[in-house]
Amino acid sequence: MKPQLGATWPLASPLFTSSVYTIPDLDTLDAINAGEAGFIYARDAHPNASLLAARLAQMEGGSWGLACGSGMAALSTAILANTSQGDLLFASDQLYGRTSQLLRSELTRFGLTTEFHDVYTLARLRESLQRRKPKLLVVETLSNPLGRVANLPELAALCAEVGCRLLVDNTFASPVLCKPLTLGADWVMESLTKIIGGQSDGTLGFLAGRHRDDRIHCARVMAVWGFSSSPFDCWVTERGLDTLTLRVQAASANALRLAQWLTQQPLVKRVDYPGLPEHPDHRLAAALLNGGFGHVLCLELPGGRDAVNRFIRASAMPLSPSLGHNRTTLSYPAGTSHRHDPPENRQRLGITEGLIRVSVGCEDWSEIVTEVDKALHALGNS
Ligand SMILES: *Cc1c(COP(=O)(O)O)cnc(C)c1O
Repeated sequence: MKPQLGATWPLASPLFTSSVYTIPDLDTLDAINAGEAGFIYARDAHPNASLLAARLAQMEGGSWGLACGSGMAALSTAILANTSQGDLLFASDQLYGRTSQLLRSELTRFGLTTEFHDVYTLARLRESLQRRKPKLLVVETLSNPLGRVANLPELAALCAEVGCRLLVDNTFASPVLCKPLTLGADWVMESLTKIIGGQSDGTLGFLAGRHRDDRIHCARVMAVWGFSSSPFDCWVTERGLDTLTLRVQAASANALRLAQWLTQQPLVKRVDYPGLPEHPDHRLAAALLNGGFGHVLCLELPGGRDAVNRFIRASAMPLSPSLGHNRTTLSYPAGTSHRHDPPENRQRLGITEGLIRVSVGCEDWSEIVTEVDKALHALGNS
């Protein structure tokens, strides 16, 4: 027997774990297949994905949104739905490692070629776009780990000149700080595994689009390739959306304060954070990002790998190579995200053996500074 909800609905979203739905008759089946409300099979669509995607699409200013099984699933969906064999793609030469790997090693097997470009030098990029006329440009709003900022309105204008479409990975910024679809991007994707989830207990991605008519094709690619999401992960992630703005703002405020504090510490050689005036993209970040500069910063210790090891061992902040957790965590780009980069590439980017990436959480500031100070003291005392 069905519970009688009447006109009421639970305030906290229910979790619908069912992989399949019951359908009263064939006319209803036809109606659902024609796009009317209702669900059939969870790989294609399920209520927790729809609830989550609708809320996120609204935050992004998108025409539609799709929850996918991971950030990589969302990225794969966007690329596979909007390219064909023989197409040329352009991508930033500073991308999340798995994204570069997808473009460089996987999609090439299916006849898609990607050229990697410096997307921060617009005049040169414009010349390459006009000469090569790629189908798609893939960039990140804020790059990992150094926080380079993509000039999205300018990139969208350059793409429009040559009929190229723009796909933006907005994971580090989240829609709280930046809404790429409102700045001219055609698609935006995020890994919800990071700060949008915020609790490190769901693996999920999100894809949203500006054009109403490409939703059906993206949804089909997601369902057919099996890039679908789990109801539980959608449920926990949707629950976190209520506090997303607060969490992003608190973490960004803590990150700015920590970056400023670190620049005063004699044992720290360099700090990379777009909120600092000396960062190469500080002015662009201030113009493009709304209400903060993000929760990720890097600090370089002069003592290389040994110093990093001592810092990690002395600190209660865990080495935990992801980001966006609600408490502060550390990562080591040279040994995790950029491990497979050629050494000369790491050198060019400044990803040295002494570089620590901090994903700043939304704890009380005093807890963060106490831990970082303690870890730096361990270096001073050795
Ligand atoms: C983590 C991450 C991804 C991939 O997301 P998953 O949920 O781990 O698949 C893509 N882009 C960026 C910038 C990321 O940080």
